[in-house]
This record gives sequence, structure tokens and C-alpha cells, in this order.
Amino acid sequence: MTTALSARPQLRHLTAQLDELKRKGTYFHLRVLNGVQEPVSVYDGKQVINLASNNYLGFCNHPKLREAAIQAIKDYGVGPGAVRTIAGTMKIHMELEEKIARFKNVEACVVFQSGFTANAGTVSSILGKDDFILSDELNHASIIDGARLSRAKIKVFRHKDVDHAEELLKEVANEPGRKLIITDGVFSMDGDIGPVDKLADLADKYGAIMMVDDAHASGVLGRNGRGSIDHFNCHGRVDIQVGTLSKAIGAIGGYVCGSKDLIDYLCHRARPFLFSTSHPPSVTATCIAAFDLLESEPERIERLWDNTRYFKGELGRLGFNIGGVTTPASETPITPIIIGDGRLTMDFSRALFDAGLMATGIAFPTVAEGKARIRTIMTSEHTRPQIDQALEILEKTAKKIGISG
Ligand SMILES: *Cc1c(COP(=O)(O)O)cnc(C)c1O
Repeated sequence: MTTALSARPQLRHLTAQLDELKRKGTYFHLRVLNGVQEPVSVYDGKQVINLASNNYLGFCNHPKLREAAIQAIKDYGVGPGAVRTIAGTMKIHMELEEKIARFKNVEACVVFQSGFTANAGTVSSILGKDDFILSDELNHASIIDGARLSRAKIKVFRHKDVDHAEELLKEVANEPGRKLIITDGVFSMDGDIGPVDKLADLADKYGAIMMVDDAHASGVLGRNGRGSIDHFNCHGRVDIQVGTLSKAIGAIGGYVCGSKDLIDYLCHRARPFLFSTSHPPSVTATCIAAFDLLESEPERIERLWDNTRYFKGELGRLGFNIGGVTTPASETPITPIIIGDGRLTMDFSRALFDAGLMATGIAFPTVAEGKARIRTIMTSEHTRPQIDQALEILEKTAKKIGISG
């Protein structure tokens, strides 16, 4: 038998940091999914009600999407063989981009390998060191990384605080650099909706570029899941719309929608587009079929919202802190159960799992210190009995480990 090579001292500082996490109680093991992603799934060999996935519409295992992927493998093989700009642009890639552009009612669209690369690749390539980025403090990490890579000056405004954004914008209004206002359409850890309309007003007033990251709004908000721009009826007022193919759409990928020149520019300058291989055809075919489903099975989105309203109402009734002061902050299928302490949150999550509920604990650095939470996500495919059982597990487990709820 061969033995694994033992660690060399060079990386000892990493071990020390892991030990620190273990001491704080926020060290985690990855839960492993056996089989498909569904409302009731098997993780680590245990069957649990699943409130943790982004599979909003049940697309991860939709028969039509499976079929589309298999057919694409038969027709086009398993990989594109190159980056888009060299030899890896397939007809099916173009077809998906045209489809998304029509769906979003914009001139053009470019697809990236992930939502992460779409954000990071776009923000970093359209701005330079003399420019300014006005960014909500809870914007996604991929926006933050893109902003850093751009070398533009970053001004962070308080969460959803449009007046603060304007204050910061005024401070730099006379500087020659370009200004970009950027917000998540739906905030991924809190489930609240960004003030897209009011920020678009600001962008108009100050001549700033307006960008929205609709990762969690794609397939969820707006007509047939067209996103937050449609939800706020802000068509034509948001220069750059990012969406994901990884969440409600059920596969993997991200896209940017906007003017023909924006997209053309990104194809020439966005580094993930230039230096990383394009999607395998199976993924692209899956996404094409998914956009067809958004149009042909809108009842999934209705079910998603019915389930969301019910679950949120019951959670509030049980007395959990689901964020917000007088009314719940979250208006979407993402509902956080705020615990505060990282260790207690992780203990709660483990106890829930043991009781038959998959609800992931999220602590620093994914959310701020002292704001640790259980994040729940509803889907269209959860049945009422499954939701009721989930609520019962939450209530009983909270009592058992001494969390007020
Ligand atoms: C998940 C997420 C992304 C990244 O999307 P992937 O396709 O998973 O890379 C970007 N922005 C937000 C707000 C997200 O929640």
C-alpha cells in the first residue's frame, strides 16, 4: 500500500488557520449529495428535506433538460476544445446567447463559464484606475473581486441605502473618471431585493453606468423569471445585466446582457472569455431548453412563490428572527434564520441535519461576524407536507438546543 505524502512545513500557516476555525466552531465538512438534487435528497447517506439548494424551479433534474444534454453530447461531443476566441465557439453557444438576448429584450448577450466569471470579468474589463465603483456593502464576492481587479476606486454604500450612494457619488461627481453603480438584484444571503429603480434614477442623474447582478433573480423575479429589471420595469435603464445559469436555470454559467457594443467589447477584453474554455455543448443545450421551460411552464414560478409565501409566514409565526426590523427583509425564496453566533449556528445546522433537514449554516467570512445564519431556500417542487415537516423540525430542534423560535 502506498501512503500519502505528508505535509511539508511550507504550508504550516494554513494548518494553523484551520485549527483556529475548529476552535471557533465554524470549521465544516462538505456534505456529499448521493443522487440527484431534489426537495428530498440523500446527503452523506441520510435522507433529508432539502432547504439548501438554489434549484428554485426543479430544473437540476428536469427530464427535458436531461434529454437536451444527452442529445447535445451525441451531436456535438463533450467539449468545445478551445476558448471562444480561438476555436471554441460552437453554433449552439451563439444560439443560447441569441435566445437570452431575446428573452431579456436587449441587443446582445455573452455567456461566461459562471456567474462569478461574468461579474469579475465584466467589472474588471470595463473600468480602469481613474474610475469609480459605487457598490452595495452586501454585493456578491465576484463583484468585489472584479472591482479590485479593475483597480478603480471603490466606494461602498450601506446596504440598499440610496441616499448614502448619492452622498458618495456627489463626492466624486467632479472627478474625470467614469462612475459605475452596482447592486445585486436579489441579495444572496438575505433574500432582499436591491433598489434597482432608485439606483437607476441616480445613475441617470449623475450619468453613471448602471449594473445589476441578477444571479438569484434569474428565473425567480419578473415576468417568466426575466429578473429584477423586469420586476421594476427598468427596461433600457440598466446598462449591464448579469444573470446566472447556475441557479434557477439548473446547470452552470453566467451571462451579461446589454448593448451590442458592450457585448462586443467583452468578447475582446473580458479575460475569462479570452483565457478560459467555453461551456461543453451539453451545458449550453441544457440552458437553451431551460429558457424554453421558463416560457412554457410558468406555473413552476407561481408554485415557487406560493411555497415561499407559505414558508415565510409560518417561519415568522414560529418566532424565528428572519431579518428585518418591523417587516421581514427578505421578499424572495431565500429566507435567512438569523442566529448571530457562528458556533451556535453551525451546531443548529448539524442538529437540523440529524433531525432530517438540510439547512446550511453560514458564518464569517461569507456573512459579517455576528450575523451568522441558517439560510433556507424554497423551491417550486417542495410539497406542502414536506414544508410542514421542515417547519416542525426547525421548531423542535430550535427548542432542543435553546434557540428562541
Ligand atoms: C451565486 C452568485 C453568483 C455566482 O454565480 P455562479 O454561476 O454560481 O458562479 C454571482 N452573484 C450572486 C449574487 C450570486 O448569488
